[in-house]
Amino acid sequence: MERDQLKKEVCEAIDNRKDELISFAADIRRNPELGFKEHRTARQVKNKFEELKLEYVEGRAITGLKAKFGEGPVNIAVIGELDAVICASHPMAVGNAAHACGHDAQLAAMLGVGFGLIESRVIRSLNGVVTLFATPAEEGVEYDYRRRLVDEGKLEFTAGKQELIRLGDFDDVDMAMMCHSEGTVAGKTIWPKSSTNASISKKVRYVGKPSHYTAAPWDGVNALSAALLGLQAVNALRETFKDEDYVRFTPIMIKGGESENAVPSDAQINAYVKASTMKAAIDANKKVNRALISGSNAIGTHIEIDDFCNFMPLEYNESLAQVFSNNASQFMDVRKELYKTAGSTDMGDVSMIMPAIHPFVGGSVGGIHRETYKHVDEETAFIIPSKIMAMTIVDLLYDNARLGIKIALEKKRRMPKEEYLKTLRCLKRKIDK
Ligand SMILES: [Zn+2]
Ligand SMILES: [Zn+2]
Repeated sequence: MERDQLKKEVCEAIDNRKDELISFAADIRRNPELGFKEHRTARQVKNKFEELKLEYVEGRAITGLKAKFGEGPVNIAVIGELDAVICASHPMAVGNAAHACGHDAQLAAMLGVGFGLIESRVIRSLNGVVTLFATPAEEGVEYDYRRRLVDEGKLEFTAGKQELIRLGDFDDVDMAMMCHSEGTVAGKTIWPKSSTNASISKKVRYVGKPSHYTAAPWDGVNALSAALLGLQAVNALRETFKDEDYVRFTPIMIKGGESENAVPSDAQINAYVKASTMKAAIDANKKVNRALISGSNAIGTHIEIDDFCNFMPLEYNESLAQVFSNNASQFMDVRKELYKTAGSTDMGDVSMIMPAIHPFVGGSVGGIHRETYKHVDEETAFIIPSKIMAMTIVDLLYDNARLGIKIALEKKRRMPKEEYLKTLRCLKRKIDK
C-alpha cells in the first residue's frame, strides 16, 4: 500500500477513537497524581494497553509502564508523562496536584498512536517496533519524598526518565518522541524544534546557634541572616551570567528559623540552578555555591549544600524534527524557529543518549504550571499531535524502515548510556563547611 494511504488510514483510526481519547484525558485531569505516586493514572493507561491487547511491563521506576508492538529493526518510543504538577490554586486541583502542564494530553496522544497504528492494521505494513512509554515523575516536585525513596534504595535518581535509562528500559529504543503543551497558544501552532535548560537541584542549610532573640542575641548565630546574605550575594552575581546561557536561580526558603523569640539557628533553601548547557550550569552553580557560602562566612554559621539532581539539556534531532515537520504541515502552522525555554525536562536526558524530539504544541492557554492553564482545543492539544506522531512512524518504518534505520544510526553519535550515568553521578555533590 502507498505510504499516503497508510497515513490516511492511521488518521481515520485515530479519529474513530477521538471521543474516547478526549474522555480519557479528562479522566486523567480529574485525578492528578504527583511524581512516583501516579498509581491510578498508570492503571488507566494499563487498561488501554489491555484494550489494545498489548503486552506490557509495569512498575518501571515505581509507576512507569510500556507496551511494544510491531516487528523489525528499529524501535521508536512515543512518550507520555504520567505526573501532575503542584498548583493548589488550580480549579481542578486535588490536594495540591493539578494537570497544569498538560501531561493528560501527552498520555492521550501516546495512546492515540497505538489505536491508530493497531486498529488500522497499518503496523502490519511497516517494518519496525513502536514502544508506547508512560513515564513517571517528570516534574521537579517533592524532592524530600523522592530523596526518601533514594535513601530506601527504591530509586537512584529523582526524575522518572533518568531512572528508566538507568534500569535499562531505553536500552532497546532507537529514538524517542513526544509532544508537550506550549501553554499559551490556542490555535493550531507547533514548534518541532525545541531546546530546554540543563538543571542542578540543590538543598542548602545554614546552621547557626539559638539564643534569646532580644535578651541575649549576642550569644546566638543567626542562620536566617546568613541565608539572606547568601541570596543577596547570588543576586549580585546575576549580571555576570551571559544572556545566551539562559542562567536561572530559583530559590525558595523552606525554613527561616524556629520561633520569633529565638535567634534562628536553622535556615533552609531549596533551589535550581539552570542554564542552556551542562557546562554553563556547572559554571553558574560554582558561582552560586561560592556566593551562598559567603553568607555563612559573614555570620559564622555552618553551611551544608547538597547538589543532588541534574537534568541534561534538551537537544532535538534535526532529521526526526524534519520528518515530523513535514507531517505537521498538513494540519498546523509549523514554526521553523527553535522554541527555546529556560525550563527543564528529563526528556533532555533521553535526548543525550538517542535521537529525540519534544515539540511544543498549541491548543492550551493560561500558561503551564499556573491556575489559569487549560485546554481550549483538544483536537490541537492532542488529537492532531497523535496523528502527526503516527504519520512520522509510518515514514520512519515504511520501505523496510529505510529512514528509521538511518536516523537510528545517529544514536551512535549520542552519549553512550554508561557515560551518561557516570556524568550524572559525578554531578551529585555535597559541600559541608
Ligand atoms: Zn511542567
Ligand atoms: Zn510538562
